[in-house]
Amino acid sequence: MYDVIIIGAGPAGMTAALYASRSNLSVLMIERGAPGGQMNNTAEVENYPGYESILGPELAFKMYEGAIKFGVENAYGIVQNITDQGEFKEVVTEDKTYQGKTVIIATGCVHRKLGVKGEEEFAGRGVSYCAVCDGAFFRNKRLIVVGGGDSAVEEAIYLTQFASEVTIVHRRDELRAQKIIQDRAFANEKISFIWDSVVEEIKGNEMVVTGVQIRNVKTDEVTEEAAGGVFIYVGLDPLTEPFKASGITNDAGWILTNDQMETSIPGVYAVGDVREKGLRQITTAVGDGSIAGQQVFDFIETQKDAQLTK
Ligand SMILES: Cc1cc2nc3c(=O)[nH]c(=O)nc-3n(C[C@H](O)[C@H](O)[C@H](O)COP(=O)(O)OP(=O)(O)OC[C@H]3O[C@@H](n4cnc5c(N)ncnc54)[C@H](O)[C@@H]3O)c2cc1C
Repeated sequence: MYDVIIIGAGPAGMTAALYASRSNLSVLMIERGAPGGQMNNTAEVENYPGYESILGPELAFKMYEGAIKFGVENAYGIVQNITDQGEFKEVVTEDKTYQGKTVIIATGCVHRKLGVKGEEEFAGRGVSYCAVCDGAFFRNKRLIVVGGGDSAVEEAIYLTQFASEVTIVHRRDELRAQKIIQDRAFANEKISFIWDSVVEEIKGNEMVVTGVQIRNVKTDEVTEEAAGGVFIYVGLDPLTEPFKASGITNDAGWILTNDQMETSIPGVYAVGDVREKGLRQITTAVGDGSIAGQQVFDFIETQKDAQLTK
Protein backbone atom coordinates (compact mmCIF):
# COMPACT_ATOMS: atom_id res chain seq x y z
CA MET A 1 0.00 0.00 0.00
CA TYR A 2 1.31 3.44 -0.97
CA ASP A 3 0.97 6.53 1.21
CA VAL A 4 -0.04 8.54 -1.85
CA ILE A 5 -1.17 7.66 -5.36
CA ILE A 6 -0.97 10.57 -7.79
CA ILE A 7 -2.97 10.34 -11.01
CA GLY A 8 -1.42 12.42 -13.79
CA ALA A 9 2.16 13.66 -14.21
CA GLY A 10 1.62 17.23 -15.40
CA PRO A 11 3.07 20.14 -13.40
CA ALA A 12 0.42 19.72 -10.67
CA GLY A 13 0.98 15.99 -10.19
CA MET A 14 4.77 16.23 -10.40
CA THR A 15 4.89 19.01 -7.80
CA ALA A 16 2.61 17.02 -5.48
CA ALA A 17 4.99 14.06 -5.95
CA LEU A 18 8.01 16.21 -5.07
CA TYR A 19 6.44 17.57 -1.88
CA ALA A 20 5.03 14.23 -0.71
CA SER A 21 8.23 12.27 -1.38
CA ARG A 22 10.36 14.93 0.36
CA SER A 23 8.18 14.28 3.41
CA ASN A 24 9.34 10.67 3.19
CA LEU A 25 5.99 9.31 2.03
CA SER A 26 5.83 6.41 -0.43
CA VAL A 27 4.49 7.85 -3.67
CA LEU A 28 3.19 6.21 -6.84
CA MET A 29 2.59 8.48 -9.85
CA ILE A 30 0.40 6.99 -12.61
CA GLU A 31 0.53 8.59 -16.07
CA ARG A 32 -1.07 7.54 -19.34
CA GLY A 33 1.49 9.30 -21.56
CA ALA A 34 4.78 11.14 -21.24
CA PRO A 35 5.35 13.04 -17.99
CA GLY A 36 4.83 16.78 -18.48
CA GLY A 37 1.16 17.00 -19.41
CA GLN A 38 0.18 20.02 -21.50
CA MET A 39 3.72 21.43 -21.17
CA ASN A 40 4.75 18.86 -23.76
CA ASN A 41 2.46 20.61 -26.26
CA THR A 42 3.76 24.09 -25.50
CA ALA A 43 6.47 25.50 -27.72
CA GLU A 44 7.71 28.22 -25.42
CA VAL A 45 6.80 29.17 -21.86
CA GLU A 46 7.53 32.81 -21.09
CA ASN A 47 5.64 33.19 -17.84
CA TYR A 48 7.19 30.63 -15.53
CA PRO A 49 9.19 32.47 -12.86
CA GLY A 50 12.93 31.96 -13.04
CA TYR A 51 13.05 31.52 -16.81
CA GLU A 52 12.93 34.33 -19.33
CA SER A 53 11.81 31.71 -21.82
CA ILE A 54 11.94 27.92 -21.79
CA LEU A 55 10.67 25.24 -24.17
CA GLY A 56 7.64 23.43 -22.74
CA PRO A 57 9.15 19.92 -23.05
CA GLU A 58 12.40 21.15 -21.45
CA LEU A 59 10.51 22.54 -18.44
CA ALA A 60 8.58 19.26 -18.27
CA PHE A 61 11.82 17.27 -18.18
CA LYS A 62 13.37 19.50 -15.51
CA MET A 63 10.24 19.19 -13.36
CA TYR A 64 10.20 15.44 -13.83
CA GLU A 65 13.87 15.07 -12.82
CA GLY A 66 13.17 17.11 -9.69
CA ALA A 67 9.95 15.28 -8.89
CA ILE A 68 11.40 11.77 -8.85
CA LYS A 69 14.70 12.41 -7.06
CA PHE A 70 13.26 11.54 -3.63
CA GLY A 71 12.13 8.09 -4.69
CA VAL A 72 8.78 8.48 -6.48
CA GLU A 73 7.65 5.28 -8.24
CA ASN A 74 6.20 5.62 -11.74
CA ALA A 75 3.60 3.49 -13.44
CA TYR A 76 2.13 3.67 -16.91
CA GLY A 77 -1.65 3.36 -16.90
CA ILE A 78 -4.96 4.92 -17.81
CA VAL A 79 -6.92 5.28 -14.60
CA GLN A 80 -10.48 4.03 -15.00
CA ASN A 81 -11.90 4.74 -11.55
CA ILE A 82 -11.18 5.16 -7.86
CA THR A 83 -13.07 3.73 -4.91
CA ASP A 84 -13.07 4.73 -1.27
CA GLN A 85 -12.55 1.66 0.91
CA GLY A 86 -12.51 3.69 4.13
CA GLU A 87 -9.00 3.09 5.51
CA PHE A 88 -7.58 3.15 1.99
CA LYS A 89 -8.50 4.00 -1.60
CA GLU A 90 -8.32 1.79 -4.66
CA VAL A 91 -7.12 3.15 -7.99
CA VAL A 92 -8.00 0.99 -10.96
CA THR A 93 -6.20 1.14 -14.32
CA GLU A 94 -6.98 -0.95 -17.39
CA ASP A 95 -4.93 -3.88 -16.05
CA LYS A 96 -4.01 -3.21 -12.40
CA THR A 97 -5.47 -2.14 -9.07
CA TYR A 98 -3.36 -0.06 -6.67
CA GLN A 99 -4.04 0.78 -3.04
CA GLY A 100 -3.17 4.07 -1.37
CA LYS A 101 -3.89 5.77 1.94
CA THR A 102 -4.51 8.95 -0.05
CA VAL A 103 -5.09 9.89 -3.69
CA ILE A 104 -4.23 13.12 -5.53
CA ILE A 105 -6.07 13.62 -8.82
CA ALA A 106 -4.07 15.72 -11.31
CA THR A 107 -5.53 14.71 -14.67
CA GLY A 108 -5.90 18.22 -16.14
CA CYS A 109 -8.25 19.18 -18.94
CA VAL A 110 -8.36 19.51 -22.70
CA HIS A 111 -9.36 22.49 -24.79
CA ARG A 112 -12.57 21.82 -26.60
CA LYS A 113 -11.89 21.80 -30.31
CA LEU A 114 -13.93 23.58 -32.93
CA GLY A 115 -13.65 20.50 -35.11
CA VAL A 116 -13.16 22.41 -38.37
CA LYS A 117 -10.83 21.94 -41.30
CA GLY A 118 -7.37 23.45 -40.69
CA GLU A 119 -7.62 23.40 -36.89
CA GLU A 120 -5.36 20.39 -36.34
CA GLU A 121 -3.11 21.28 -39.25
CA PHE A 122 -2.30 24.79 -37.96
CA ALA A 123 -2.23 24.03 -34.21
CA GLY A 124 0.88 25.81 -32.90
CA ARG A 125 1.27 27.62 -36.26
CA GLY A 126 -1.40 30.25 -35.77
CA VAL A 127 -4.14 28.28 -34.03
CA SER A 128 -3.96 28.66 -30.26
CA TYR A 129 -6.10 28.00 -27.20
CA CYS A 130 -4.09 30.18 -24.79
CA ALA A 131 -3.70 33.95 -25.23
CA VAL A 132 -1.69 34.33 -22.02
CA CYS A 133 0.76 31.77 -23.39
CA ASP A 134 0.95 32.68 -27.06
CA GLY A 135 -0.35 36.26 -27.40
CA ALA A 136 3.09 37.87 -27.50
CA PHE A 137 3.96 35.87 -30.63
CA PHE A 138 1.26 37.75 -32.59
CA ARG A 139 2.49 41.34 -32.40
CA ASN A 140 0.84 43.68 -34.94
CA LYS A 141 -1.22 40.89 -36.48
CA ARG A 142 -4.95 40.80 -37.04
CA LEU A 143 -6.41 38.05 -34.84
CA ILE A 144 -9.68 36.15 -34.76
CA VAL A 145 -11.08 35.04 -31.40
CA VAL A 146 -13.81 32.39 -31.53
CA GLY A 147 -16.36 32.31 -28.69
CA GLY A 148 -18.55 34.63 -26.64
CA GLY A 149 -18.05 33.61 -23.00
CA ASP A 150 -15.86 35.14 -20.31
CA SER A 151 -12.66 33.45 -21.52
CA ALA A 152 -13.13 34.47 -25.15
CA VAL A 153 -13.85 38.12 -24.36
CA GLU A 154 -11.24 38.45 -21.60
CA GLU A 155 -8.59 36.90 -23.80
CA ALA A 156 -9.60 39.11 -26.74
CA ILE A 157 -9.05 42.16 -24.52
CA TYR A 158 -5.69 40.72 -23.42
CA LEU A 159 -4.67 40.14 -27.04
CA THR A 160 -5.20 43.80 -27.98
CA GLN A 161 -1.89 44.53 -26.19
CA PHE A 162 -0.14 42.76 -29.04
CA ALA A 163 -2.47 42.59 -32.02
CA SER A 164 -3.24 45.34 -34.51
CA GLU A 165 -6.91 44.31 -34.40
CA VAL A 166 -8.96 41.55 -32.75
CA THR A 167 -12.24 40.30 -34.20
CA ILE A 168 -14.53 38.20 -32.03
CA VAL A 169 -16.58 35.70 -34.02
CA HIS A 170 -19.62 34.53 -32.05
CA ARG A 171 -22.44 32.24 -33.11
CA ARG A 172 -25.08 34.31 -31.29
CA ASP A 173 -26.07 37.99 -31.55
CA GLU A 174 -24.96 38.78 -28.01
CA LEU A 175 -22.09 37.78 -25.75
CA ARG A 176 -22.41 35.39 -22.81
CA ALA A 177 -19.56 37.06 -20.91
CA GLN A 178 -20.18 39.04 -17.71
CA LYS A 179 -21.52 42.55 -18.36
CA ILE A 180 -18.43 44.32 -17.01
CA ILE A 181 -16.19 42.32 -19.35
CA GLN A 182 -18.51 42.99 -22.29
CA ASP A 183 -18.43 46.73 -21.56
CA ARG A 184 -14.63 46.70 -21.59
CA ALA A 185 -14.62 44.88 -24.93
CA PHE A 186 -17.19 47.24 -26.51
CA ALA A 187 -15.13 50.23 -25.35
CA ASN A 188 -11.91 48.85 -26.81
CA GLU A 189 -11.21 50.41 -30.20
CA LYS A 190 -9.13 47.44 -31.35
CA ILE A 191 -12.01 44.95 -30.91
CA SER A 192 -14.70 44.32 -33.52
CA PHE A 193 -17.42 41.66 -33.70
CA ILE A 194 -18.86 39.30 -36.28
CA TRP A 195 -22.23 38.15 -34.88
CA ASP A 196 -24.37 35.10 -35.62
CA SER A 197 -21.42 33.44 -37.26
CA VAL A 198 -19.27 30.34 -37.03
CA VAL A 199 -15.76 29.64 -38.27
CA GLU A 200 -16.06 26.84 -40.81
CA GLU A 201 -12.45 26.55 -41.90
CA ILE A 202 -9.03 27.84 -40.90
CA LYS A 203 -6.92 28.63 -43.93
CA GLY A 204 -3.20 29.08 -44.38
CA ASN A 205 -0.17 28.58 -46.53
CA GLU A 206 2.32 25.78 -45.92
CA MET A 207 3.68 27.65 -42.85
CA VAL A 208 1.07 29.71 -41.01
CA VAL A 209 -2.57 30.74 -40.72
CA THR A 210 -3.66 33.38 -43.22
CA GLY A 211 -7.39 33.61 -42.54
CA VAL A 212 -10.72 31.98 -41.79
CA GLN A 213 -13.87 31.08 -43.66
CA ILE A 214 -16.97 32.21 -41.79
CA ARG A 215 -20.64 31.32 -42.23
CA ASN A 216 -23.49 33.46 -40.96
CA VAL A 217 -25.88 31.03 -39.24
CA LYS A 218 -28.94 33.21 -40.00
CA THR A 219 -28.31 34.02 -43.65
CA ASP A 220 -25.93 31.17 -44.60
CA GLU A 221 -23.70 33.79 -46.26
CA VAL A 222 -20.08 32.63 -46.43
CA THR A 223 -17.24 35.17 -46.19
CA GLU A 224 -13.48 35.10 -45.71
CA GLU A 225 -11.52 37.14 -43.21
CA ALA A 226 -7.75 37.61 -43.29
CA ALA A 227 -6.00 36.82 -39.99
CA GLY A 228 -2.53 36.00 -38.70
CA GLY A 229 -3.85 33.90 -35.83
CA VAL A 230 -7.00 32.23 -34.50
CA PHE A 231 -7.64 31.86 -30.76
CA ILE A 232 -10.33 29.34 -29.89
CA TYR A 233 -12.34 29.60 -26.64
CA VAL A 234 -15.32 27.37 -27.06
CA GLY A 235 -14.76 25.71 -23.69
CA LEU A 236 -12.51 23.37 -21.73
CA ASP A 237 -13.32 19.78 -20.91
CA PRO A 238 -12.04 18.36 -17.62
CA LEU A 239 -10.57 14.86 -17.73
CA THR A 240 -12.75 13.56 -14.92
CA GLU A 241 -14.72 10.70 -16.43
CA PRO A 242 -13.08 8.16 -14.05
CA PHE A 243 -14.13 10.18 -10.97
CA LYS A 244 -17.70 11.17 -11.76
CA ALA A 245 -19.18 8.18 -9.93
CA SER A 246 -17.39 9.32 -6.75
CA GLY A 247 -19.60 12.42 -6.61
CA ILE A 248 -16.70 14.89 -6.36
CA THR A 249 -17.38 16.79 -9.60
CA ASN A 250 -19.81 19.62 -10.30
CA ASP A 251 -22.39 19.57 -13.11
CA ALA A 252 -19.79 20.69 -15.66
CA GLY A 253 -17.43 17.90 -14.60
CA TRP A 254 -14.81 19.94 -12.70
CA ILE A 255 -13.63 18.62 -9.32
CA LEU A 256 -14.64 20.78 -6.36
CA THR A 257 -12.05 21.36 -3.64
CA ASN A 258 -11.40 23.75 -0.79
CA ASP A 259 -8.21 25.85 -0.45
CA GLN A 260 -6.38 22.81 0.92
CA MET A 261 -7.19 20.86 -2.29
CA GLU A 262 -9.47 18.50 -0.34
CA THR A 263 -12.42 16.99 -2.19
CA SER A 264 -15.55 15.85 -0.36
CA ILE A 265 -13.91 12.41 0.19
CA PRO A 266 -11.43 12.44 3.09
CA GLY A 267 -7.97 11.56 1.79
CA VAL A 268 -8.81 12.36 -1.85
CA TYR A 269 -7.36 15.61 -3.23
CA ALA A 270 -7.48 17.32 -6.63
CA VAL A 271 -4.92 19.73 -8.07
CA GLY A 272 -4.25 21.77 -11.19
CA ASP A 273 -6.47 22.33 -14.21
CA VAL A 274 -8.90 19.56 -13.25
CA ARG A 275 -10.21 21.69 -10.35
CA GLU A 276 -13.01 24.23 -10.52
CA LYS A 277 -10.83 27.38 -10.47
CA GLY A 278 -10.18 30.75 -12.10
CA LEU A 279 -6.73 30.68 -13.71
CA ARG A 280 -5.44 27.49 -15.31
CA GLN A 281 -1.67 27.88 -15.73
CA ILE A 282 1.55 26.05 -14.89
CA THR A 283 2.18 28.36 -11.92
CA THR A 284 -1.25 27.72 -10.40
CA ALA A 285 -0.95 23.97 -11.06
CA VAL A 286 2.40 23.93 -9.25
CA GLY A 287 0.90 25.90 -6.35
CA ASP A 288 -1.97 23.43 -6.00
CA GLY A 289 0.44 20.48 -6.18
CA SER A 290 2.62 21.80 -3.36
CA ILE A 291 -0.40 22.34 -1.09
CA ALA A 292 -1.77 18.82 -1.68
CA GLY A 293 1.69 17.25 -1.36
CA GLN A 294 1.94 18.76 2.13
CA GLN A 295 -1.72 18.05 3.02
CA VAL A 296 -1.39 14.30 2.43
CA PHE A 297 1.43 14.21 4.98
CA ASP A 298 -0.75 15.99 7.57
CA PHE A 299 -3.70 13.68 6.76
CA ILE A 300 -1.64 10.52 7.26
CA GLU A 301 -0.14 11.83 10.51
CA THR A 302 -3.63 12.67 11.83
CA GLN A 303 -4.84 9.17 10.92
CA LYS A 304 -1.87 7.66 12.81
CA ASP A 305 -2.65 9.79 15.89
CA ALA A 306 -6.28 8.69 15.72
CA GLN A 307 -5.20 5.01 15.62
CA LEU A 308 -2.97 5.50 18.66
CA THR A 309 -5.73 7.08 20.76
CA LYS A 310 -8.23 4.30 19.89
C1 LIG B 1 -0.80 24.92 -26.15
C2 LIG B 1 -0.76 25.28 -24.69
C3 LIG B 1 0.12 26.26 -24.27
C4 LIG B 1 0.18 26.61 -22.93
N1 LIG B 1 1.09 27.54 -22.56
C5 LIG B 1 1.20 27.88 -21.26
C6 LIG B 1 2.16 28.83 -20.84
O1 LIG B 1 2.93 29.38 -21.65
N2 LIG B 1 2.22 29.12 -19.53
C7 LIG B 1 1.40 28.55 -18.60
O2 LIG B 1 1.54 28.83 -17.40
N3 LIG B 1 0.46 27.65 -18.97
C8 LIG B 1 0.35 27.30 -20.27
N4 LIG B 1 -0.61 26.40 -20.66
C9 LIG B 1 -1.50 25.84 -19.64
C10 LIG B 1 -0.73 24.81 -18.77
O3 LIG B 1 -0.03 23.91 -19.61
C11 LIG B 1 -1.70 24.05 -17.87
O4 LIG B 1 -2.38 24.98 -17.06
C12 LIG B 1 -0.96 23.06 -16.98
O5 LIG B 1 -0.23 22.13 -17.74
C13 LIG B 1 -1.94 22.28 -16.09
O6 LIG B 1 -1.23 21.34 -15.37
P1 LIG B 1 -1.94 20.03 -14.76
O7 LIG B 1 -0.84 19.25 -14.13
O8 LIG B 1 -3.09 20.41 -13.93
O9 LIG B 1 -2.55 19.25 -16.01
P2 LIG B 1 -1.87 18.68 -17.35
O10 LIG B 1 -0.65 19.43 -17.73
O11 LIG B 1 -2.99 18.60 -18.32
O12 LIG B 1 -1.43 17.19 -16.94
C14 LIG B 1 -2.39 16.21 -16.67
C15 LIG B 1 -1.75 14.84 -16.90
O13 LIG B 1 -2.68 13.83 -16.49
C16 LIG B 1 -2.62 12.75 -17.42
N5 LIG B 1 -3.90 12.03 -17.37
C17 LIG B 1 -5.12 12.52 -17.70
N6 LIG B 1 -6.06 11.56 -17.51
C18 LIG B 1 -5.42 10.46 -17.04
C19 LIG B 1 -5.84 9.14 -16.64
N7 LIG B 1 -7.14 8.78 -16.67
N8 LIG B 1 -4.92 8.25 -16.21
C20 LIG B 1 -3.59 8.59 -16.16
N9 LIG B 1 -3.13 9.83 -16.52
C21 LIG B 1 -4.04 10.75 -16.94
C22 LIG B 1 -2.38 13.44 -18.77
O14 LIG B 1 -1.81 12.52 -19.71
C23 LIG B 1 -1.44 14.57 -18.37
O15 LIG B 1 -0.08 14.18 -18.51
C24 LIG B 1 -0.68 25.99 -21.99
C25 LIG B 1 -1.58 25.02 -22.41
C26 LIG B 1 -1.61 24.65 -23.74
C27 LIG B 1 -2.55 23.55 -24.19
